[in-house]
Amino acid sequence: MSAPRLVVDLVKVEANTRQLVEQLRPRGISVTGVTKAALGSPEIGAAMLRGGAIGLADSRIENLTRLAAGAPASASRTLIRSPMISQVDQVVRHATTSLNTGLRVLDALDEAARRQRRTHQVVLMVELGDLREGIAPEDVIDLALTTRTRRRLRLAGLGTNLACQNGVVPDDRNMGELSRLVEEVEAATGESLAVVSGGNSANLPWALSTSAVGRINDLRIGEAILLGTEPLHRTVLPGLHDDAFRLVAEVIEAGVKPSQPWGALAQTAYGELAPLRAGGGSGTTRQAILALGRQDVLLEGLVPPPGITILGMSSDHLVVDCGDHRLAVGDELTFGVGYGALVQAMTSPFVAVVLTEPAAARGRAATPGTYLPS
Ligand SMILES: *Cc1c(COP(=O)(O)O)cnc(C)c1O
Repeated sequence: MSAPRLVVDLVKVEANTRQLVEQLRPRGISVTGVTKAALGSPEIGAAMLRGGAIGLADSRIENLTRLAAGAPASASRTLIRSPMISQVDQVVRHATTSLNTGLRVLDALDEAARRQRRTHQVVLMVELGDLREGIAPEDVIDLALTTRTRRRLRLAGLGTNLACQNGVVPDDRNMGELSRLVEEVEAATGESLAVVSGGNSANLPWALSTSAVGRINDLRIGEAILLGTEPLHRTVLPGLHDDAFRLVAEVIEAGVKPSQPWGALAQTAYGELAPLRAGGGSGTTRQAILALGRQDVLLEGLVPPPGITILGMSSDHLVVDCGDHRLAVGDELTFGVGYGALVQAMTSPFVAVVLTEPAAARGRAATPGTYLPS
């Protein structure tokens, strides 16, 4: 099989979705599955829907277009980055809903929807402190009222996004403010809002522990479904699988080398100064090179199997200390991936994506020379 390859366990993606859906349901919160870290894979989107997500969302219209192929018409497809004016026609065609922050884009969407004789759902995003997208709370009512005057737009609700640009933690205070704004908008318009989209995976610790979810009735969840982690501290959430995605790479050189480099030392390929190799002393190291580089995956968030230590990575080579393992050329190693590593691997043209279905997932065993991360 080709390497490097990202092996995706669709059963675990589905199980993670179901676990979150069931935990959030008693709190009146639905899950919209976010596929952007999975390049809008229709199969991964379908696994999220099987697990109970009410719709799918992605930051790229190209991905939503791909998703549309596998998703039933009843599932919402939401563009979660403010639409580019240059793409409004595609947005109206391929997304049922988009998250928005300004009148110019809303007017362009309204025009595009008129041309296509469609209607388009709008969620207005409110700035609650993380300083990425969002309109100021004091401008929300005006923009909501204006949105309602656009014939081809439907005001679906309000949303916010925290914990991305500045790591602002979702809590009772900022979520309470979103609920309060929802009620103000409803009072001003005389109609109730269908969608109150409280945020992303970083909202889960709050949503699963608070006694006051208020009006929040939906979360846009990517990372927790795909990797089992919440993004505030990157801990694995209870009951979730953290190994739905694993990256397999192939050994292209293996042998014993001196532990320390020699010669005068300056910058490495990526501009760092190499740290002295830990524990190496003046002895030797069992070292292997894998055909895996920064063109394939982000070094940060790459988790080696137990007993293997990453020594460095350039564009095309990953150098590891094999410890007590005896690796040979042609062997494969399996790595865990964090969020950045997943995004990079999914978008690299050099990394094959292998989707495993239920039976295959159960029958898959470690082959000789393959070390699985714990
Ligand atoms: C990426 C993103 C999400 C999903 O974030 P996760 O941490 O992967 O759950 C939700 N909303 C917006 C606006 C996003 O950009």
